[in-house]
Amino acid sequence: MIDQISQLVVGAVDLIAAFLLLYGLHRMASPVTAPSGIFVAGIGMAVAILVTFLDIFGVNAAARPFLPVNIGLAVIALTIGGGVSWWGGRKVAMTAMPQMVAIYNGMGGGAAGSIAAVELFGHHTSGLVPLSVTLLGALIGAVSFAGSIIAWAKLQSILNKPLRVPYLRFFNLALFVTTVAVGCVIAFLSLSSALSPELIFGFFVLAMLFGIMMTLPIGGADMPVVISIYNAFTGLAVGLEGFVLQNPALMIAGMVVGAAGLMLTMLMARAMNRSISNVLFSNFGDAPAKAHGAIKGEMKPTEPADAGTFMRYAKSVIIVPGYGLAAAQGQQKLYEFVKLLQGAGVSVKFAIHPVAGRMPGQMDVLLAEAGVPYNMIFQLDDINAEFADTDVALVIGANDVVNPAARNDKSSPIYGMPILNADQAKQVYVIKRGQGKGYAGIQNALFYGDNCNMVYGDATSVLATMIEAVRGLGTKAAA
Ligand code: NDP
Repeated sequence: MIDQISQLVVGAVDLIAAFLLLYGLHRMASPVTAPSGIFVAGIGMAVAILVTFLDIFGVNAAARPFLPVNIGLAVIALTIGGGVSWWGGRKVAMTAMPQMVAIYNGMGGGAAGSIAAVELFGHHTSGLVPLSVTLLGALIGAVSFAGSIIAWAKLQSILNKPLRVPYLRFFNLALFVTTVAVGCVIAFLSLSSALSPELIFGFFVLAMLFGIMMTLPIGGADMPVVISIYNAFTGLAVGLEGFVLQNPALMIAGMVVGAAGLMLTMLMARAMNRSISNVLFSNFGDAPAKAHGAIKGEMKPTEPADAGTFMRYAKSVIIVPGYGLAAAQGQQKLYEFVKLLQGAGVSVKFAIHPVAGRMPGQMDVLLAEAGVPYNMIFQLDDINAEFADTDVALVIGANDVVNPAARNDKSSPIYGMPILNADQAKQVYVIKRGQGKGYAGIQNALFYGDNCNMVYGDATSVLATMIEAVRGLGTKAAA
């Protein structure tokens, strides 16, 4: 009787953890509620860890005699893991977020693979369906773990060059088929109890090798999309292992993460006008950039103070932030400048492209960090029609997301990608350090337009000079 009650309690707390994770995720849908959403999901995770301790080491310990019970080691692992991620999360720069997501995602895949390993090595799973689910979760978890580590190394510039060798795709296909075949042999031998641990070990090695070989040929710039794919994989693997353990919190959280990862991947691919297979197999960014001569006109530089002064006397300004703003960490200076313009009666709005920066939502987070109110931030579809009636489009560290080639050059690798219509504003100012290209590695005709001036320099220092210039105007007016 006591056993049944304690199992009921564990089940109920499991469901509470799952509910908190789902509710937290729901709140993350809007920037206004996202901070509390993260907090709620964090509580859900803490409850899930607590109930796992209760389940394994406490109330249901007798029901799982096969699990190695070492509470000391578990507490040490949790303390080290929690401490390192607390420190890492506080220290990480906004531009290094994709790496952090990659490494945490890899840990999730590794955890799912480890659960499967405990089940397989300990012969705890029987029956063809549970065994197949365990093996599928093991395969996906191991691929996600190894692939995410390679993605992290690429984003961290530890691995700089994509691996390009002939017939690699055929090798990878053969590797995948062999891994699946070994999995089938394991399932078959498990049923007859003649399974050797070496075979299981070999299966994991092959699966991880496949994850490594699949990720190595993909260019570093495509890694955010790849991480999003692996995120979907990890969720699926966790959900499958939750099914094996009959753990509702794992099943629900895994499936939600898997579905969210898949949707995010599809949204990113759509916003870049590319298919997922194009991301995985196209060697994007390898093509030589078009010759400078292909675009008519010259880039016309101007001084930051002149650009700042012009905007101070404009009626309306739309700001397009991009990767360079995050790289320069110029968000605080930008908002300081915006407040000065607003103080002078200028209408200022922010236009966000769905794949500006190097991570979905990176610009929203950057602006939120600086305290920019959400009602000043507009997504592409909601603001694009306004550029034509706007005095100034201020492009800061953005390039591809305002490149008109996406609209009118069929030979361009970004042709078809929706872009922000900055070129349609009466005057365009572009803040960037020099002639550097964007992620797609192509020229941008916007910079050569008659209505465009380049303000060269690091985004933060250019904005600082603009602030000084506009403040100076205020002082002169007062005098
Ligand atoms: P881009 O990568 O196209 O351009 C960034 C520009 O910023 C560069 O041209 C660079 O020029 C400039 N820059 C760099 N550092 C600084 C600095 N310190 N100060 C001022 N300028 C700087 O960025 P966008 O945001 O326009 O576009 C994002 C691209 O990334 C798109 O092609 C998108 O498809 C891709 N992508 C986005 C993902 C996402 O989820 N957001 C994921 C994967 C890819 P210079 O060197 O001359 O300064």
